[in-house]
Amino acid sequence: MTMKALRASLLRFDPTTTQAQFEEDGLLVIGPDSRGRQVVQAAGSYSALKDMYAQVPVEHLPGRILAPGFIDMHVHYPQTDIIGAPAAGLLPWLENYTFPAESRFADPAHASAVAEFFLDELARNGVTTALTFATSHPASVDAFFEAAQRRSLRMISGKVLQDRHSPDGVRDDTEQSLLDTESLIRRWHNVDRLGYAITPRFAPTSTDAQLHGAGELAKAHGDTWIHTHVSENKDEVKWVRELFPKARSYLDVYLGFNLMRERAVYAHCIHFDDDDRCLMRDTGAVTAVSPTSNLFLGSGFFDFEGADRIGYRYGLASDVGGGTSFSPFATMMAAYYAGREGQTKPGVSIPPSQLWWHHTAGAARALGLAGGVGNLQPGCEADFLVLNPAATPLLARKTKLADSLEELLFAMIVLGDDRLVERTVISQAMA
Ligand SMILES: [Zn+2]
Repeated sequence: MTMKALRASLLRFDPTTTQAQFEEDGLLVIGPDSRGRQVVQAAGSYSALKDMYAQVPVEHLPGRILAPGFIDMHVHYPQTDIIGAPAAGLLPWLENYTFPAESRFADPAHASAVAEFFLDELARNGVTTALTFATSHPASVDAFFEAAQRRSLRMISGKVLQDRHSPDGVRDDTEQSLLDTESLIRRWHNVDRLGYAITPRFAPTSTDAQLHGAGELAKAHGDTWIHTHVSENKDEVKWVRELFPKARSYLDVYLGFNLMRERAVYAHCIHFDDDDRCLMRDTGAVTAVSPTSNLFLGSGFFDFEGADRIGYRYGLASDVGGGTSFSPFATMMAAYYAGREGQTKPGVSIPPSQLWWHHTAGAARALGLAGGVGNLQPGCEADFLVLNPAATPLLARKTKLADSLEELLFAMIVLGDDRLVERTVISQAMA
C-alpha cells in the first residue's frame, strides 16, 4: 500500500529532551514499515519535506493540529456504567457500586457490549492506547481483547485477581485465578498490538498465596505488565497496615511479592514517603496519576514535586469509573489542580506542554512503549489525532489569541473536550 501525507499544524515531542515541538505548517507522512504496519515515515515542516515527498498524496487540513493519540495509563473499562457514582469514599464506593457492576461481567455478551462502548468513547476523546483493568472473570478479558483486536488498537489489559475480602460474584479462587492468568497471557500477550497485564486489584483483596503467584507469573513472563493500585486512600492504607504488619509501607507489600519492576504500573501513589519514591525509581516501577478520581473520591493529591525530586516515572490516567471523565483534557486540567496542592512544595504550576507530554510520549515511556506510541516521530505507529482548535466559539476566540505554544496548549487543556477531537486515526496493519 502506498504512502499518504497530512498537511496541518503538527505537535510532537523531542524524544531526548521531552520538549514539545510545534510546526505551524507541518507535514506528517504515513506509510508501512517492514512488517506492514502503518508508521510515521516523516514529520516536520511542510517546506522542508514537500520536495522529498512530492509524489505522495497530501490531505490539506488548514486550521487543524495533528497530535499524538493520548495514552490512558489506568482505567477500568467495566466501570464505564458507574462513572459519577456518589459514595463517601473509596471503600464504600467499591462495596456499593463497583463490585455489583463488575459481577455482571461473568456474562460475555454484557462484557462485549461494554467493551465496544468503552472503545468508542476512548476514540471520541482521542485516547488511542489504554492500560485497563478487566474484571475477575476471564470472559471480560477475552471480550475486551477481541474488540480491541478488531479495531487494530494497541491496548493492555488483564484479569483482576481478588481471592479475599470480595463478595460472591467477583471473588476468584486462588489456584484457578493463576491458571486463568497464565492461559490468558498465552492467548493474548503480544498478539497483534495487545499486551497482558497481571492485575491484582490491590493488596487487601488478595491472599499472600495469590500475590506470590502473581509475582511468579510476572517473573516467568518478564515483558508483561503488572497493574494494580497503591496508597490511594488513608483508610485503605490503614487497612493494609493491619493486614501486612511486617511490611515497611503499603508499597513494600508489593516489593515483598516481587511485583515491582519495569512495566509495573501503580495507580495513585498518593500517601508515599521518600523511601517509597526511591523504591519506585530503583525498581523501574511507574505511577499512573489519576487526578479526577483522586479529587472525586477525596483521596488526596499526587506529589508531582516529590516524584520529580526523587526522579521516578509517571504518566496521566483517567481511572474511570473513580475518575469522572474519559477526556484527556479533563485529566490534564485536574493534574494541574493537583500540582497546585503539592505536599512538599505547594503552588507548582506544571507547564501545559509537560501535562500534554505526561499523557502522550511520557506515558508511553513510563509503559515501556517509547518510540512506539505517544509521539509522531519517524518510526512511531501512526495513532494520531486531528484537533480542531476552533471547535467551540470560546476555543476559537481563545486559541486565536495565543502568543506561544504554552498558551495554545493551555487554552485547549482548560477549554477542550471531545468536541476538540475531530478525528482519531489508528495505525492499520496492511497486507
Ligand atoms: Zn483504579
